[in-house]
Amino acid sequence: MTASDLAALIRSRQPCVALTGAGVSTESGIPDFRSPTGVWAQYDPMEYATIQAFDGDPEKVWSFYALRFHALAEAVPNDAHRALAELENRGLVRAVVTQNIDLLHERAGTHELVEVHGSIRTCICRGCGATYELEHVRRLLDGGSAPRCEACGTILKPNVVMFGELLPFEAIDRAYALAREASLLLVVGSTLEVTPVSLLPWETVRAGGSVAIVNLGPTAFDDQAVMKVEGRAGEVLSAVAELLA
Ligand SMILES: [Zn+2]
Repeated sequence: MTASDLAALIRSRQPCVALTGAGVSTESGIPDFRSPTGVWAQYDPMEYATIQAFDGDPEKVWSFYALRFHALAEAVPNDAHRALAELENRGLVRAVVTQNIDLLHERAGTHELVEVHGSIRTCICRGCGATYELEHVRRLLDGGSAPRCEACGTILKPNVVMFGELLPFEAIDRAYALAREASLLLVVGSTLEVTPVSLLPWETVRAGGSVAIVNLGPTAFDDQAVMKVEGRAGEVLSAVAELLA
């Protein structure tokens, strides 16, 4: 299957909702931190990315998140993010549901964005409830230690979903509603292995819609999808956006 097949499918099956995972951001130099290789390989997620680890030793967890915050904050959107924003502008993509926390869809211009794993946009103080914006947190991180609330001294928590934490209810509720409304759910750069996002394609199919997949490598939903385009997200989606221009 090629980009032109996918472009025709998107045009004929509206509304289309996009569901994106780590694969759309790898071309922005952001490795999937669950992958066994790359810069995050030395950090065991159980030790650095669970809510239990954060509650037990937030300083240690921040030693990991500080690196991620800086890397993510410096990253720029790629062709995949730009193509999805363009398709939304033309009324061909209703919304983007993403597992990514990197803000790149927003920076590319996507308006209807559902971040089911939260994002690095803000941190929260669990002591007094204060919210801190990314740039403020990065300034607090400059001192080299975990960022603390300026009002009460509590170590801040990133508003990203850590392992062992519940997903933000409102976001996941909206994601399910969008999946049900979609005539086409366009899955990009996700292997669909992490629940509950992995359940969204089933939600679409149960409601009578179809699922198309753009991914490098197999996904858990390949056998059920009406179309699979094997390839890099940026290449495939920019070709699709051009065909639909
Ligand atoms: Zn506070």
